[in-house]
Amino acid sequence: MTEEKTVVTTDFIRNIIAEDLKSNKHGGKVVTRFPPEPNGYLHIGHAKSICLNFGVAEENEGGICHLRFDDTNPEKEDEEYIEAIKRDIQWLGFDWQQKEYHASHYFEQLYQYAIVLIKKGKAYVCDLSAEEMREYRGTLKAPGKNSPYRDRSVEENLDLFQRMRAAEFEDGSHLLRAKIDMTSPNMNMRDPALYRIKRMTHHQTGDKWCIYPMYDYTHCLSDSIEGITHSLCTLEFEDHRPLYDWVLDQLEVECHPQQIEFSRLNLEYTVTSKRKLGELVTSGSVSGWDDPRMPTVSGLRRRGYTAKAVRNLCKRVGISKNDSTTDMALLEDCIREDLDSIAPRVMGVLKPLKVVIENYPAGQVEELQAKFHPKDESMGSRVLPFSRELYIDESDFEEVPPPKYRRLTPGKEVRLRYGYVIKCEKVIKDPETDEILELRCTYDANTLGKKPEGRKVKGVIHWVSAEHSIEAEVRLYDRLFSKASPDSGKDGSDFKEHLNPDSFLKLTGCRLEPGLLGAKPGIQYQFEREGYFCQDHVDSKADKMVFNRIVTLRDSWAKMVNQK
Ligand code: ATP
Ligand code: MG
Repeated sequence: MTEEKTVVTTDFIRNIIAEDLKSNKHGGKVVTRFPPEPNGYLHIGHAKSICLNFGVAEENEGGICHLRFDDTNPEKEDEEYIEAIKRDIQWLGFDWQQKEYHASHYFEQLYQYAIVLIKKGKAYVCDLSAEEMREYRGTLKAPGKNSPYRDRSVEENLDLFQRMRAAEFEDGSHLLRAKIDMTSPNMNMRDPALYRIKRMTHHQTGDKWCIYPMYDYTHCLSDSIEGITHSLCTLEFEDHRPLYDWVLDQLEVECHPQQIEFSRLNLEYTVTSKRKLGELVTSGSVSGWDDPRMPTVSGLRRRGYTAKAVRNLCKRVGISKNDSTTDMALLEDCIREDLDSIAPRVMGVLKPLKVVIENYPAGQVEELQAKFHPKDESMGSRVLPFSRELYIDESDFEEVPPPKYRRLTPGKEVRLRYGYVIKCEKVIKDPETDEILELRCTYDANTLGKKPEGRKVKGVIHWVSAEHSIEAEVRLYDRLFSKASPDSGKDGSDFKEHLNPDSFLKLTGCRLEPGLLGAKPGIQYQFEREGYFCQDHVDSKADKMVFNRIVTLRDSWAKMVNQK
């Protein structure tokens, strides 16, 4: 990542941290954390948070970023997600340097802190039902009412809380609540719940606990226990900050981290919410969390995105407090930019149309030289077999060409990339269906690496030798949703109703240049004139190669939308 680091970026959070370092506010330290809840796979929004938290730690000497699993809700969490999250962070190029923590490992300590709050008269056990709670809570316009249990004695609270832990009560029958202010304009301060009873096996602590601490209570204390200096989170936590600070102030903890909020990354034509992405998985709308259309880190990886492109997107989006939605074109631009310089060029014909070169001897094979990269000599070159029978792409031939058509048409010439100029002499059709079966062409033997004499040939098309090419399946992807913001259900629609029915197209019988035979997954190629592709590391096999289209060469979507 050294190359990227030379570009100094700054933002309001980095400025705050720089100031804090100058004034020695946190003892000259920078300790951040990335705190995912292991209830799903990471998405591109998380990548932004990862780049920020780990980035800030890397940029400051001695800085460190903890990986903390915020696992207070066993209902939706799973070990599988923990492993996936770790894999994704590593792939993105970041290292938590063995500072892996789990909020659940603090359960005993958190329980003891709750006892301190009770003893200070700052927390009480409440027996209101969920429905009554709602009623007492008030609304944004109306203040709430004190719970009838609010003035229980410290002794009674201690006894009840201990019995909550000892599983003497039903799930949901009691809560431990903070005693703050039921009239606060900030709903989060109206005696929020700190602990609830839930009999549920936890992936880390098993059946040891039947009470679980709530997120707001757990998060600030976990930060404090770990000596976090700057607790960076997204804007929706702004209203929770007073509670974050209240808990730490009441407990007079030694380390009181500073919470700073920044805006989420949202991406057009997709959703960035684990819950919604999970719904797509369970409803079978996609093939899994790593479906190449998903905005998950694992989906992007499987699709063929590079970590550098994802990091670059996060950098371009930047850190601010302004809510915004990022244009999908920006993400695509980032991957094109990276792949343009690193992807070897190869030829792949997605929709093969047979071409027979009538004046080329049957059985003869020539080896044509082609560079892997037009600008990067160090990538070397490959050999392309040329023979009497070739495949070109269906879309590179028009019987009745539109104006300015530069590809193959009857009676006209076109150049084969790295090869000869050919001329279409005849179109062979199925007499019944009128379908084009093959083209009969001739080649000009005097045009290899040379301009044809006395005429101009402008078009260049890609091709493969029929006999030598290898067969592959190619998967084309498009936007997962056909609506730019499928999330905003103002019209009452379910976000899944906006799924793009044409987001996945499977092409079989595609033909690739022979050098790709046996190529290992993990390399992004440019299929010349078609786009960037990489092997699907899940479904591709040595004898049945499957390629994913990462992105087209140009943004064809913007054009299409404008035409509509
Ligand atoms: P989701 O709504 O997708 O479930 P979350 O906030 O509940 O997201 P967490 O696992 O709690 O997911 O998130 C871990 C960290 O990533 C948090 O600090 C959160 O603020 C941050 N984060 C989550 N979504 C985004 C996003 N879209 N943009 C930037 N940061 C995000
Ligand atoms: Mg969350």
